[in-house]
Amino acid sequence: MTVAVELLRALPKVELHCHIEGTMRPETVMDLARRNHVPLPANDVRDLYRYRSLDEFLSVFWLVQSVLVSRDDWARLAYESVVDAAAAGRVYAEVFVTPARHLAAGQSLRGVLAGLGEGLAAGDADTGCRTMLIVDMDRAYGPDAGRQLVEGLAQLRRAGAVGTERVLGIGMDSTEIGVDPLGYVPAYRAAAAAGLRRTGHQGENSPATAVAAVVEQLGAERVDHGLSLAHDAALVQRFADRRVPLTMCPTSNVVIANAFPTVAEHPLPRLRAAGVLVTINTDDPALTNLDLAREYAACAQAWGWDFDQMVDLAVDGVSASWLDEADKRALAERIRTEAVRLRPAPDPLAGS
Ligand SMILES: [Zn+2]
Repeated sequence: MTVAVELLRALPKVELHCHIEGTMRPETVMDLARRNHVPLPANDVRDLYRYRSLDEFLSVFWLVQSVLVSRDDWARLAYESVVDAAAAGRVYAEVFVTPARHLAAGQSLRGVLAGLGEGLAAGDADTGCRTMLIVDMDRAYGPDAGRQLVEGLAQLRRAGAVGTERVLGIGMDSTEIGVDPLGYVPAYRAAAAAGLRRTGHQGENSPATAVAAVVEQLGAERVDHGLSLAHDAALVQRFADRRVPLTMCPTSNVVIANAFPTVAEHPLPRLRAAGVLVTINTDDPALTNLDLAREYAACAQAWGWDFDQMVDLAVDGVSASWLDEADKRALAERIRTEAVRLRPAPDPLAGS
């Protein structure tokens, strides 16, 4: 069974796991590199967007991000990111930004958020989307830098700095190997005290107990990826009982993390069958030649899911979001209504 990608493109969708730096158009990478005098090792950035390992991916990812220098660069990235996602049917998103490297290179969090806020506002105004931000700590910089980032963010919010009105919460990403999630307890405590929502990447390269620690010790409300959870039936049950969402990225897990040979082997269907609240997302779509409609289509094809099952998944994205309850109800209703309009007529030739 296949569900037409155009049908899934027209379906309103939510995205909760997308790194804004990973949405940069190849032309924009080239353009900003020229303007900011950042040497690129290839004449066509599309040649860079091919890699054989996670390490290679991470070095390309940093190269791409290093072209972002001024507030205007961040605004352009944010604007184009919203426009491109809207073309795939994304209507609401909570996207990550991981500013540690840029801060280490001398940029200010105030400037990064001001540029992003400006670009997201313009993109949302042009498309009718709503795009919010999650500021991620980069684990490569350690827990102290993470706590400082959260405290700096809280301070900017209190001061009403431009762009902070878009920030819903915090998370953490980058390497998991050799990192004890519990080191981030002070950062997550500071975030909770500042009224920020909390998530965290875990379970790509760490055991199920680390995924559980992010929720149970750090107080995160959801987990990004959470792949290894599938290895521990008791923890799967606990996540299902508490409806702790996992924001999953099947194609990324195949292409970037090499965690599975194909999307068909991805544990999302098993976790969902066990009652876990799972969502489908693109992670770094520009670097994997992806958009949210194509990701939905790839998943439907790999798992043999029909249009109605994909609609249910889209609605689960709303449940897992940090919208308030009234907005959740309205958006879920919008998706269901649009789905009725889009639903393909039954195939008269199909067997009973
Ligand atoms: Zn991610």
